Formats: sequence, structure tokens, C-alpha cells
Amino acid sequence: MSQQLKTITLKRGKEESLLRFHPWVFSGAIANLPDDIEEGEVVKVIASDGRLLGVGHYEIGSIAVRILDSADTDIDEAFFTERLRQAWALRRRLGLIRTDNSTFRLVHGEGDFLPGCVVDVYGNTAVLQAHSPGMHYARQIIANALVALPDAGIKNVYYKSETTLPFKARLDPVNDYLIGGFETNIATENGLKFNIDWLKGQKTGFFVDQRDNRALLQKYSQDARVLNMFCYTGGFSVYAMRGGAQLVHSVDSSAKAVTLTDANIELNFPGDNRHKAFAQDAFKYLASMEKGEYDLIILDPPAFAKHRSAVRNAMIGYRRLNAAAFEKIAAGGILFTFSCSQAISKEQFRLAVFTAAAMSGRKVRILHQLTQPADHPVNIYHPEGEYLKGLVLYVE
Ligand code: SAH
Repeated sequence: MSQQLKTITLKRGKEESLLRFHPWVFSGAIANLPDDIEEGEVVKVIASDGRLLGVGHYEIGSIAVRILDSADTDIDEAFFTERLRQAWALRRRLGLIRTDNSTFRLVHGEGDFLPGCVVDVYGNTAVLQAHSPGMHYARQIIANALVALPDAGIKNVYYKSETTLPFKARLDPVNDYLIGGFETNIATENGLKFNIDWLKGQKTGFFVDQRDNRALLQKYSQDARVLNMFCYTGGFSVYAMRGGAQLVHSVDSSAKAVTLTDANIELNFPGDNRHKAFAQDAFKYLASMEKGEYDLIILDPPAFAKHRSAVRNAMIGYRRLNAAAFEKIAAGGILFTFSCSQAISKEQFRLAVFTAAAMSGRKVRILHQLTQPADHPVNIYHPEGEYLKGLVLYVE
């Protein structure tokens, strides 16, 4: 095509992973970098023999280019419109766009062929998050393409990248509306209502990725005494209430999270006194509670390992946390335990939980092995996109 792009040439043999459709070029694979190249620029990547490998966003760091397309495609509004249209069609196919479900992830980075870009939809508001300088510079055209999506009804686009962009890039992103403004912050998930705080909350305001796992929890909640640890917005708690729990206790170290959880319970079950929330440290709470107090325990902590270097300590953290739950859960209890650390593999997580179970000496069986839902698809050529792991365990 017509565009004049700067070209990055790879070292001999370094084209292999791109030919297998992996979307990242690591800095060590680059033979020559144009002097005047700017962070966030769209570049052309070629092999040592001159073959075109694709076009992508350049950035400074160990991941140097995130490939957007393997052909010499213009990266313009039409490009984003087409990728978003495909993402929307997939969510429709997944059955997520319904009157009783207005929240889902529309774009999951590499899993939707838009590396560095995340979009969560809450009713007619989309929250856009950039993880790369290239996506930061493209934010306004992505926002324009979002509101132009036919039949999607997106009116407001909030940009939230203050904590997700590489800080060395000095992009000084400002969290603000790119289009529209605040209307309502109530969205619906499987018929349940949630206050979503995209202005001040963590991530894009809600953990959409636990939707299917919360629905599974509901099925185990009838008459159960439930403890929802690391509750944040109280997602699991609200589903447990709908499932007929005898009582639900929600715990989070953040007082704001506890207020949010109380508000979401009140929104769905006004005046229902089966629920109580506590602002407390999870480890302290588990240490001080009685044995046999709860039949159903959820452990959904923040990522203990944000980087490879933290894996060892994270493994210790998962082991300690799960050991405390195994020690205290009632006989015949069910434990939903998760890890959202991308750096911890499914096998490593299972090993940490296995060790914790063995320490307790209890009989433990795996009932379900959980992962992220289909609106967080994993590009098969980019296994790094898989991050959420969960086990549902029957503890005798
Ligand atoms: N389960 C939630 C998401 C959990 S996010 C959902 O389905 O939406 C992780 C939460 O853990 C955050 O709200 C954070 O405030 C809380 N947290 C972090 N460290 C904690 C600790 N030591 N004790 C209790 N809560 C903690």
C-alpha cells in the first residue's frame, strides 16, 4: 500500500516466531533501528532477507514491536473499525449482548488482534485502556470507531491509562472521557445490577473476567455459609445471595471496596440482612475465624506475581492463603480458589494449592478447573494471553 513507514530489520533467524504468528518482536531480535524512530510509531518489520513480516506499534523496552497485521495494512480508523466490528460480532455470538447482560470485555488485547488495547463495556459506556504508547496515540480514533459501531449503542468512551502505560514513555496520560460523559454507572451482569466505578475503581472498574465463575458459585450457594475473601465490588457475594446462601460475609482490606460491596448487595437485595462486609486483612481474618464457620470460601486475591521475579514469593503467598482456608473450612466444604498472575502457570498454581492441601492433611478433590471467560479469548499463537486460573475443591 501507499504508506511511508520506517522499517525495522530483524537479525537472521529472528523471524521464526513472527512466521508462527506470535505478535511480539523482542528488542534483542532487531538488527537495525532507524535513528529517528519515535515511541508509539507504526513501523514495518522485515526479515533479514527483506521479506515483509508485518506492521506494528514500536515501543522502547523488551517488547519492541507489537504486530497489528501481517500485511502492509494502513493502521487508520478503518483498520480499528474492522477489528472492533469483529470483536463485537464475537461477543454477540457468545450470547453476551442481552437486555439482562450489558457488561463484557469487548477487546482483550492480543486475543482480539489489538495488542496493547483493552476495552470493557458497561451499558452505553466503554472504558478504554492502553498498555502501549501506540494505542495511547490511537486512543481518539479508537474512541471514534467505538461510538460508530453499528447497533452497539456506545455513547461514552472513558480513557483510563494512567497506571497501565510504561511510565518511562512520559506520555502523561489523563484519565478522562474522550467522547460523551458520565450518565449512569449501573450495569447488568446475568440479571444482577452492579455499580461500576470506572473513575476511581481498580482496572476498568469491575472484574468482568469472573462472570462465568460467579455463575458457577451461585449453584453451590443454596443454604451455605459463604465467605468471599478479596471481595472488591462483591461480585461473588451478590451471586451467592441469589443462590440462596444462608449468610454471606465479604472481606477486603480496602474500606472503599467494602462500601462498594454493601452498595451492590443493597442494589439487588434491599434490606436483606444475610450479608455483612468487613474491612480487614485476609490473612488476619482467616487466622482469627473459627474452624467450620463457613461451607463455601472464595479466595480471589490480587496478582501476587506481577513479574517473573516475584514468582517465588507469590508461590509462598498462594500456599499460605490456601493452607489457612483448608484448615478452617467446614467438613464437606467447597473452596473456589484463584490466581490472576500471568507469571504463574496453571501447573505452578496447582502445585501451591496441592502443597497447602497436603499441609492440612484433609481429603481434597478437584471438582472444576476454571479459567477466563470467552470474552477474554487467548490467541493460540500468544499463550501469554492466558492468565486466570481457578480450582473448585471439595474438602472433606
Ligand atoms: N473477587 C473480586 C476481585 C478481587 S480484586 C471480584 O470478583 O471482583 C483483589 C482485591 O483484594 C482488591 O479489592 C484489594 O483491595 C483486595 N486486597 C488486596 N490485598 C488484600 C489483603 N491482604 N486482604 C484483603 N484484601 C486484600
